[in-house]
Amino acid sequence: MNTKTVAASQMQVLKNKLNAAIESRTSLEEDFSHQSNLLIPFISKLSLVSKGVNLELDNRLAQLRVLLTKSAPIADIENKIVEISKLLNRHTAINEENISLLHKQFNDAGLNLQKSRGLPADLRRKLRVLLKETETTKDSITQYIPLLSQLIELYDQSSRTKADTSQENASTSAIPLNSKDDTINTKLIEQISVCLSKLHLSTQHKKELLAINKKLINDTKSDDVLKRFLEIFDVIVADFQSERDSAKNFLNTLNDTLTTVQTAVKKTLTTCSESQSTNKKINDKLQHQLRDMSSTVENAMSLENIKLDINTKLNSIAETLVKKTAFEELSQKNLATQLDNMAKKVKDLETQSQEFAKKLAEQQRKSMQDALTKLSNRAAFDEYFTKKMVSYHRKPFDLALVVIDIDDFKRINDTYGHTAGDKTLQVIANTLQKKVSKNIFVARYGGEEFVLICTGKGEAALSSELNQLNNCIAHLPFKFKSSKVNITLSMGFTHITKNDNIHTAFERADQAMYKAKAQGKNQVIYLKS
Ligand code: GH3
Ligand code: MG
Ligand code: MG
Repeated sequence: MNTKTVAASQMQVLKNKLNAAIESRTSLEEDFSHQSNLLIPFISKLSLVSKGVNLELDNRLAQLRVLLTKSAPIADIENKIVEISKLLNRHTAINEENISLLHKQFNDAGLNLQKSRGLPADLRRKLRVLLKETETTKDSITQYIPLLSQLIELYDQSSRTKADTSQENASTSAIPLNSKDDTINTKLIEQISVCLSKLHLSTQHKKELLAINKKLINDTKSDDVLKRFLEIFDVIVADFQSERDSAKNFLNTLNDTLTTVQTAVKKTLTTCSESQSTNKKINDKLQHQLRDMSSTVENAMSLENIKLDINTKLNSIAETLVKKTAFEELSQKNLATQLDNMAKKVKDLETQSQEFAKKLAEQQRKSMQDALTKLSNRAAFDEYFTKKMVSYHRKPFDLALVVIDIDDFKRINDTYGHTAGDKTLQVIANTLQKKVSKNIFVARYGGEEFVLICTGKGEAALSSELNQLNNCIAHLPFKFKSSKVNITLSMGFTHITKNDNIHTAFERADQAMYKAKAQGKNQVIYLKS
């Protein structure tokens, strides 16, 4: 092969290589432009999706879209992307804050709804499920949309139920006992029973009332119920009457005694002034007699005359002195009798006052005590808690408030009757009082709710005590109509802090209790301020 031929063949090889390179570059360019055609509109669309989230971000994304469509230099695009990334980071932080705020608002609204009384059981169950589902924070706000819509629906259902119940109440208050079909309004009877248990009557009348109440709960005819109401009124009126009579009696005696004392004092004063004037007369007489005697001595003509005259006068003086002594003895005796009388009356009055004071103290004690469970009542709790809060704010110490609610208590009433419910309340109240440490104040707050006020215990110690208490109640061997029943409690507690007032502290303990309910009941939950 000559040199020319070799050069030609090498040229051909190079040409082929060049052609191959040009072909592969063209294919690369085609690929790039295909991908760019795909990516640029995609990025543009993606950037449009986030439009409206933040004005600054909107502007930067619009600028990026322009750069992409006019195929700007990659360095310009890169700069824009860095700016946008910074804005996106800031936006992510804000977004996370918003999510946690929404999460809290959602849960607060749910818990508030849970606190409403009289929610139907299925609504309560749905709400519990919903709150369980929303226990952990979601990743994006949009995930809350279906949950919010469910919550709104539950609120709607609840307000409709309330409207129905108030209509029902309105109609039952118009016809309180028997509707057309002569059925008894058990709810009303239940309310009356609760009111009756709160009345403070004498032991005898209380017994009578309890007996009537027992019959009332079992009455099935409205005529019988009406009869029971009349009997109840009679007992209440009789109690008022006897209370009035005893007060009237006391006031009458008080009046009599005061009149006697007043008369006696008046008489004593008159007697005193009378005896004073009598005494004065006697003294004057004596002085006169003595003066008379001395003038007799001065003017006497002879010793024999003096002797005779003085003798007569001395006799007369002796007589006056005897009279004076007798008079003084008599008036002293009178005075002593009168004083004695007065002392007796005052003593009687003192005894009666003491009895009356005892009765008043007993009434005062009863007004602070829950009639059914014999625990302190709501008024006593308010008074005690206020005092504790005042001393806490003067000098802080460990002060905790516990709210306790019996789980599914309505079911006990509905299944085994109101009397079984009452008995249960008494047993639980007794157990609470017996089992808690000495420095814990126990009260029945109302219905099936109890409250404890504890001083000097931190979170761990109190939590352990409350869990033991909860466990103890859960193992109490209740037996109704020969079936064994376990009753559990939900407890919430919190410690008071210096920013608290009575209401915020109670609200927090109550919230903790509702959290215990929401998390499945039969448990103790602590909420920090
Ligand atoms: P939860 O677990 O959610 O607390 O359910 P619950 O059934 O305990 O709560 P709900 O509030 O639905 O019912 C409370 C019931 O307590 C209704 C009421 O009749 C009953 N109750 C309130 N006071 C008394 C009372 O003095 N005696 C009796 N026997 N029942 C009472
Ligand atoms: Mg309750
Ligand atoms: Mg309850």
